[in-house]
Amino acid sequence: MYKYFDAHCHYSYLKKKYEGYLIAAVSMDYQSAMDTFSLKSDNVLVGVGIHPWRVHEEDLTRILSLIIKADFVGEVGLDYRFAKAPKELQIKYFEEQIKAGEGKLINVHALDAWKDAFNILVKNDVKSAIFHWYTGPINLLKDIESAGYFISINPSVSFQKKHQEVLKNVDLKNVLTESDGGYEYRGKLLEPSDIPNAISFMSNFLGIEEYKLVRIISNNFFKAYGVNPVNN
Ligand SMILES: [Zn+2]
Repeated sequence: MYKYFDAHCHYSYLKKKYEGYLIAAVSMDYQSAMDTFSLKSDNVLVGVGIHPWRVHEEDLTRILSLIIKADFVGEVGLDYRFAKAPKELQIKYFEEQIKAGEGKLINVHALDAWKDAFNILVKNDVKSAIFHWYTGPINLLKDIESAGYFISINPSVSFQKKHQEVLKNVDLKNVLTESDGGYEYRGKLLEPSDIPNAISFMSNFLGIEEYKLVRIISNNFFKAYGVNPVNN
């Protein structure tokens, strides 16, 4: 059994292997999707998608045929702050990838676009989705919970006030942990091994014992990704 669950990690960008973690490995583009497929193993699920930051330079068609072979879709979504592609093109890529991954979990990036991304998921009848590193509006959390979607909490929760506010307000049955590993944030390379510290912080912050929190997150992970805990 795994103790720690990484619902969003750019595993192909990391140079190390991480034992004891069940990892959902996202990709950004065609190349990282191919690299991520080569990392598939008992503890690594493969996500395929074009990230909103890559939409302006990536071909949609060839990624759609890869999505069919993936365990889940991602990292996909919308970014109204940093992406170079216009909104309309981002939406087109997001929707086409959702459709290609029918029935699979959608791992969503939605910076400054939380509500639009949520509406697109609902409109396309998506049953399983994760809003990664959620820092969106608190009042959207209720809708996310009602839809049965999840948010993932990043280790930055130990200092990011906005993220702490989310943790305080979200229902724990909709919470996962993530590292966003491979991504550098404030001069530090994020990695799955940051998750134990995040769990300790969350446990103190919420006043819930660590083992209980880990159990909840483990159940949520299996529910979200549709993997059978018995086989893991
Ligand atoms: Zn990411």
